[in-house]
Order: sequence, then C-alpha cells, then structure tokens
Amino acid sequence: MNILVVEDDPSVRTLVKAVLEHNGNAVHTEDTVATGEAAAVEGNYDMIILDLGLPDGDGYELCKSIRDKNVTTPVLILSGEQESDVKVKCLRVGADDYLTKPFNTEELIARLEAIQRRTEASGDQVLNCGELRVDLLKREFSIGNEKVQLTNNEFNLLVYFIRNKNKVITQEELAEKVWDIHFDTQTNYINVYISYLRKKIREHTETDYIETIRKKGFTFRCE
Ligand code: CA
Repeated sequence: MNILVVEDDPSVRTLVKAVLEHNGNAVHTEDTVATGEAAAVEGNYDMIILDLGLPDGDGYELCKSIRDKNVTTPVLILSGEQESDVKVKCLRVGADDYLTKPFNTEELIARLEAIQRRTEASGDQVLNCGELRVDLLKREFSIGNEKVQLTNNEFNLLVYFIRNKNKVITQEELAEKVWDIHFDTQTNYINVYISYLRKKIREHTETDYIETIRKKGFTFRCE
C-alpha cells in the first residue's frame, strides 16, 4: 500500500514509517494539518494514518475536511487520547479506525489490513446513478461502457451531486463543499463548471441528469 502518515512526534513517525516499510508499504510522512491535508487531497494514497494533536491544529479537523472534499481514502487515527467520546467523534467524521498510543506495532499492521479488507469488500469505492458509474478509487467516470474524461473540478462536482442526488443543491453549497470557497454572486464560476459537466454527460446519453431549479440551484436526478 501507499500510505500517508501525518504525525508530528519524530520518534512515533520514525517508528511507524519503519514498521510500515518493513511490511512492504511505501510511506510518505507529513507533520502538520496543512501539509497533511494537501498531501491527502492531492496524493494517491491507499491509507492515511493520522495523529490528533498536531502543531497547527487537530487531526480530527483534517479528517472532517478531507471527507468534505470527497477524499475516500481510509483513515486510521493514532492518538494518545483514550476518551471514548474523542474516538466516537473521529469515527463519526469518517475515520475508519482508532488506535491508542502507546500501541503494539503488530496491532497497527493488523488493523490496517482489516481496514483494507473492509474497504475492498464494501464496494464503497463505486457510485452508481442510472447508467452513470463513478469509481472513486481510480477516479474514473463512465456512462454505459464509455469512459468519460473529467477534470478534477468536474469529477469532484459529479461526486458531490451523486452523493446528494435528488436534493436541491445551491450554488453556495457547491462553492463551500466542492471548492471550499465562499460563494460570490458576482462570479459565474460554478455555473461554468456545471455546464461543462452537463455537456460531457449529454455527449453520451439522452438523459439530462442535472436539473436547474430556478432561483434555487440544481438537482442531480437519479432514479
Ligand atoms: Ca502529536
């Protein structure tokens, strides 16, 4: 596996990296929320191991933020925090497991393997909507048997739409959740990306999945 480790304690970071590499994994490390989040969003990792107490913030926020950005990479929290409400909080924002420090390295490896098995078995990596199919792991979009090339922005927009199918979604919501920006009514940014996505979908199917709801926003139609 290709694993991202976000941990600011050099001794823990070195130990985790060594253990993971010894078990045949490729490991990239970061030591802050900011750099860890950038790596998680941009990199192509199979697993993220995340410390909670980081110098510029909380690993919990990092986990929440990447899930909001549709990063589906499994996350294992590694923390000295033993309180069960902290664990519950982490699992609720999308962490897959929680291991308390100090930890046994064999348990770390066993838990990662268990997460990997669950991820592979769950099929969570694929979203379907009518003849549309999105593979989140490979970041591939297909309509029927045809692959459709999307830019990153278009892909993230589509994923958000399918996850929130048949609901009215405002431009403000898209700006915040897909682009992580504050919506400015002066710009036509989001409409432009929606028209790109709509055009690419319509090149392959008669169905118009994106419905414009006047003065409200959009609804992505999935039966
Ligand atoms: Ca720490």
